[in-house]
Amino acid sequence: MKSLSINDKWYLKRGKPQKVLILGAGMAGMAAGIELIKLGHDVKIIEGQTRAGGRVETIRIPSKENLYANLGASRIPGNHEWTMKYINQYNLQLHPFNPLEGEYIHMFNGKRIRYTYDQPADFSNYPVELTQKELAMGWQRIFSTPLKNLIINMGDPKSLAWPPEKISKYDIYSFKEYLDLAGYSRSISDLINIGWETEQGMDMSILQFMRTSILSYGAIKYKIVGGSDLLPMKMAEDLAKNIQYGTKVIDLYQDEKKVSVIVSGRTERQTLTADRVICALPLTVIRKMNFVKFLSKEKQKAIREMTYWNLSKTILQVSNRYWKKEGLNGFAATNRPMEVWDPNYESSEKRGLIVAYMKDDDSRLMTKLSDQERLNFVSNQVNKVFPNLFDHLEHSYTKNWGEDPWALGGYSINTRGQMTTLLPHLIKPEGRIYFAGEHASAYHGWIQGAIESGNRAAKEINSFE
Ligand SMILES: Cc1cc2nc3c(=O)[nH]c(=O)nc-3n(C[C@H](O)[C@H](O)[C@H](O)COP(=O)(O)OP(=O)(O)OC[C@H]3O[C@@H](n4cnc5c(N)ncnc54)[C@H](O)[C@@H]3O)c2cc1C
Repeated sequence: MKSLSINDKWYLKRGKPQKVLILGAGMAGMAAGIELIKLGHDVKIIEGQTRAGGRVETIRIPSKENLYANLGASRIPGNHEWTMKYINQYNLQLHPFNPLEGEYIHMFNGKRIRYTYDQPADFSNYPVELTQKELAMGWQRIFSTPLKNLIINMGDPKSLAWPPEKISKYDIYSFKEYLDLAGYSRSISDLINIGWETEQGMDMSILQFMRTSILSYGAIKYKIVGGSDLLPMKMAEDLAKNIQYGTKVIDLYQDEKKVSVIVSGRTERQTLTADRVICALPLTVIRKMNFVKFLSKEKQKAIREMTYWNLSKTILQVSNRYWKKEGLNGFAATNRPMEVWDPNYESSEKRGLIVAYMKDDDSRLMTKLSDQERLNFVSNQVNKVFPNLFDHLEHSYTKNWGEDPWALGGYSINTRGQMTTLLPHLIKPEGRIYFAGEHASAYHGWIQGAIESGNRAAKEINSFE
């Protein structure tokens, strides 16, 4: 089965009108709703929160500088055609995510290394031991050389039945193990993974790493001017009559004629019925529901086992973007691991924000800390990257996605062995229940995957005559 192509004109043929309940007003649920409504289906979207957008969330600081930062999705690769389609549809403005000017920092094993957008630092500046062969690769060939064998046999990574037989055997290897196998030193994977290396990252299937890299990392990345949440806000405006907010899905069950969804809102529990349901909730939420035990064994296994990364962002407000004095642009990556951004780098205002983006271990650590301890931990890390932080620090806010009851995690990734086994089952409809969400796509952890899967589920429902 292939991902739905943006050129597929399935919507030109109207299917038999259906009464459809969509669970979750995230990007997947809303994309499905918008397309089904256009075709005359009777759609209601059930959303637990009082806002739409799910893991696309933006925080705005009430200040004259109009500062904002994205707590979830931030980067839009230019080749993510589904995301681009909706961004263009709503005339949202884009700006390059990464600054082209000023110097970036890599903080690697305690050493602070400066580089520019078009001139990466020389490998020999990094405190790691590399062989002569590895030194000669430089950043230019760091991906392509060790992974050549996989790249030439890639096939179509957009296919939902990916990987092709020739490379599927590598699914049992993590990224590091594959590099060992190919005769490269650990230092190479440390360099490739700067900003991303985590315990769980080490467990990520080499094939997941390859698929994400090939589908996303080659392209220029953008941000939505004004905040990522403008996209779901626009979609929610179109769906104003169709989204029922503040209503939690508790469970669902189906028979041959209908699906029933048990919900609880501000009042008592209620049962809603429909011809078909699109379940666009994260697997972390679905896992807790009783209906899962009535699904096929393969689907149950996939729902239970899919790995989710724990992700956190801490937003630090500073009175002065002091790093600019040093010729820095406010962007850094550390092998702690952490990514650091100035989300408003193009602003000429003095006051600003720093986003510290933590994955897995450090993100999980956040859940055990008090607000003050979180601030201490993150600001000490950021202070190593951009010293003198404490002279300028005003406020902070941390969002840990594992603590968010509507997400219960960051996003899905395939660890060793999961790439070849889980996805085909996650996307299959079961009776009258259809599945969408970033986890049910080739683009795990991207808005693109959520939107594509929403369109795919809409097509499946529209296919009845
Ligand atoms: C920290 C972080 C960084 C990211 N960075 C990027 C990035 O740079 N670029 C990018 O493209 N993507 C990024 N992503 C991924 C992107 O945000 C997701 O892939 C996408 O938003 C998922 O959409 P979805 O519709 O599948 O799920 P969700 O957004 O999770 O939507 C599910 C909806 O269901 C609702 N819900 C949950 N439980 C219930 C219930 N019981 N009853 C009723 N409603 C319920 C939720 O409130 C939510 O609105 C990032 C994600 C995170 C967390």
